[in-house]
Amino acid sequence: MTDFEVIVIGSGAAGLCAAVTAVEAGAASVLVVDAEAVVGGSSRLSGGVIMGSGSSLQRAAGIEDNPVDLVHEYLSLNGWDVARGPVERWALRTGETIDWLAAHDVPFFDRLIFGGDERKARSHCVDGGGQALIGALQSAARSAGVEFALGQRVERLVQGDHGGVVGVQAGLETLTAAAVIVATGGFGANDDLLAKYFPSAYEPGWSWYIGADSSRGDHFGFADAIGAQVTGFDRGLRTLDPGLARLNEAFLPGWAVLVGTDGRRMVDETAPYGLMDQVLRAHGDRGYVVFDDAALRPPAELTSRYRDSYKQVWPNHPPFRTKNYNADVIDAHLAEGGRKVHRADTVGGLERAIGMTEGVLAGEIGRYNGFASAGSDDDHGKAGKFLLPLTTAPYYAVEVRALTVNLTACGLRIDDRARVVGADGQPIAGLYAAGECTGGIIKTYIGSGNSLANACGFGRIAGDEAARRSTNMRRSQEVRT
Ligand SMILES: Cc1cc2nc3c(=O)[nH]c(=O)nc-3n(C[C@H](O)[C@H](O)[C@H](O)COP(=O)(O)OP(=O)(O)OC[C@H]3O[C@@H](n4cnc5c(N)ncnc54)[C@H](O)[C@@H]3O)c2cc1C
Repeated sequence: MTDFEVIVIGSGAAGLCAAVTAVEAGAASVLVVDAEAVVGGSSRLSGGVIMGSGSSLQRAAGIEDNPVDLVHEYLSLNGWDVARGPVERWALRTGETIDWLAAHDVPFFDRLIFGGDERKARSHCVDGGGQALIGALQSAARSAGVEFALGQRVERLVQGDHGGVVGVQAGLETLTAAAVIVATGGFGANDDLLAKYFPSAYEPGWSWYIGADSSRGDHFGFADAIGAQVTGFDRGLRTLDPGLARLNEAFLPGWAVLVGTDGRRMVDETAPYGLMDQVLRAHGDRGYVVFDDAALRPPAELTSRYRDSYKQVWPNHPPFRTKNYNADVIDAHLAEGGRKVHRADTVGGLERAIGMTEGVLAGEIGRYNGFASAGSDDDHGKAGKFLLPLTTAPYYAVEVRALTVNLTACGLRIDDRARVVGADGQPIAGLYAAGECTGGIIKTYIGSGNSLANACGFGRIAGDEAARRSTNMRRSQEVRT
């Protein structure tokens, strides 16, 4: 007899979905343990955009989508460099997971959005963001009879005689369970782990993490202690950051011109931010955002063009404004003698200030201005409404790096049943994992709500599998007694 049939470590989207599903799949007693006093982890702070294919909401919106297409697009966007077995099982159920969330009172907008490069709108947006998602899941968990132990950081997984996991230890207390689900989130808040497992996202003075302080990466300690495999080295989502005011801004303003250290443009600057991470990585992980004074202080006749030149993706959201690339932030930085913004009276002057080969940036801006007057970006296809010429001195170049850490994706290796895989290549009995603490499912965020989809989807798979194990154990015990 165990203290609980299923123990879930972590109360983010993954943990709560796992807990509710475990009860629905027959687990008689489920406990969620969380290190923090409040539930929700990074999920609570999130935008609440969730990828799903084949949902009722899509059908109601007239979007005909096939989850098989999601599988193929997902594999292609990740260069097939993810674990196809688990990805396939999860992706095929993403629409069903959205329906399940909606049935548990998660309030979705009717309108879906395009979050990445998908051909069908698959990003389901929760009205009220992550807070509303967690609120609905927490209510569902309480109604289902899930118990909570908050403010209890699990330090250790307890192993039985045969190496399987039989419980958890938090402080002085040890609790036993037929199945334990690790849903402890990522490790963005832990500099040492970032340096070790996500080195391309770690640069002192530049990197900063926008998620919860609770993302401490405790799953690595669990893995070490019980011999679980870790996968997904150097993966996660980084967004571009000018390193000025630490204001999280996923998209660049549409009027921005992004060039590499060679002075050349590399992409449509309004590309989905999840894909921008990969683009900058391919160009040495550094770039410059170039603009002119009109972008900071638009003349009256261009005010509306600049105002509307910011990608709008969120249903019912008031127009976004650039947080970093505006006169307040740029002028303040220069006034303080900051060196992250270069300013010059000519584009050639910018080249010299940055140390770029003479003539390249000037040539590139000349070419861009030609596209702006023609209203057509023949190089990278940026929409005409975003093309504004750079002709008003002074000119500015702000160095950007992909060092705003949004999420991490290195962690426990799981199979298609969310079972944690041990060093011997076999599932560790009694141990499951879901969400940001796992690896192999996300390579880079493809921009369609795929991390919450991962957390919710694998949370449900883990909850289902854990309940199956616990009910089987209970039945065989009943047969024996
Ligand atoms: C600002 C922001 C916006 C985002 N927006 C989106 C979005 O719109 N769409 C999307 O797909 N993704 C988004 N993401 C990413 C996404 O929110 C996360 O990847 C996802 O929520 C992770 O869910 P999780 O359940 O795995 O972890 P979390 O939600 O972080 O939950 C982990 C929980 O485990 C607990 N815990 C950790 N260690 C222990 C321990 N040892 N013992 C007990 N408890 C422990 C923590 O306290 C925490 O409550 C966003 C992230 C951020 C930061």
